[in-house]
Amino acid sequence: MTVDVSLTSYPGLDDRITVIRAGDEVDAVFVSTERFNVLVDTLGTPSLCRRALELLADRMRDRPLIVVNSHMDWDHFWGNRAVGGAPIIAHQSAIDRLRDPSALQTLEQKRTTEPRFDEVELVPPTLTFSGESMTLHGGDLSLHLLHTPGHTPDHLAVWIPEIETCLAVDAVEHPIPEVWSSAPDDLRSLRSSLDLIRSLNPKQLVLAHGQTSDHAVLDRNIAYFENIQEAVALVPASELMSAALAQREGMRLKDFVDLPAGMSFGAREFYERCHRSNLAATIAARGAS
Ligand SMILES: [Zn+2]
Repeated sequence: MTVDVSLTSYPGLDDRITVIRAGDEVDAVFVSTERFNVLVDTLGTPSLCRRALELLADRMRDRPLIVVNSHMDWDHFWGNRAVGGAPIIAHQSAIDRLRDPSALQTLEQKRTTEPRFDEVELVPPTLTFSGESMTLHGGDLSLHLLHTPGHTPDHLAVWIPEIETCLAVDAVEHPIPEVWSSAPDDLRSLRSSLDLIRSLNPKQLVLAHGQTSDHAVLDRNIAYFENIQEAVALVPASELMSAALAQREGMRLKDFVDLPAGMSFGAREFYERCHRSNLAATIAARGAS
């Protein structure tokens, strides 16, 4: 599979922000400040990341590069090897994910499907922070790295208050975000992260998947979780454990969100799975309350 890298933007997005698009796989973001450049995510392979850095060369203006890994999902950080000696910042919990055997297992599994992953090495972040946030002071722009768990335990979103822009990465997703597990705590974290992003009242929202800056996606994600909670509350307790609940009319993914026309079978399956996890976590949360 060949993935093309291109630079793009959205209407109204500040020109210090560049969206880096790796085909349909993922978007990373480049932010140019007075004092340094910031690359938020390194794409899915070193080659893709190198290509992105080539395309960005004339926007670098001889300023140092700082890299942020939004989270340790392969499509966001497997390009780390390409950034040379640039510091790589992530949340402390990213280190736990990298140490987990599943990190290497994912790489081995992906290598069996596509040779482009042969060059990938799991390059860890060089700077981590624990707690809720850290700030990169770029002079004209400040980048607030906000711990926004739920999609994954280590997830970061980036808030740039001077231009009221939020790089939400995978915390906000069209049609629905993927929750880390069906445990109630992960669902609670994801919903809190969505509420946190909404409380910032961003004028511009940049997502890593879906190729949209449509502001309404955030409100629709929040409404989706409220609506499944209401629907689950109405199901008689004796039927809650039914494995077929997510197929029942009124409980299916398409009963809660409009799925994009022309969505691929694989993408639909993926989001159906997310929906089942979300339902399971909502049911577990009802049982716990
Ligand atoms: Zn992702």
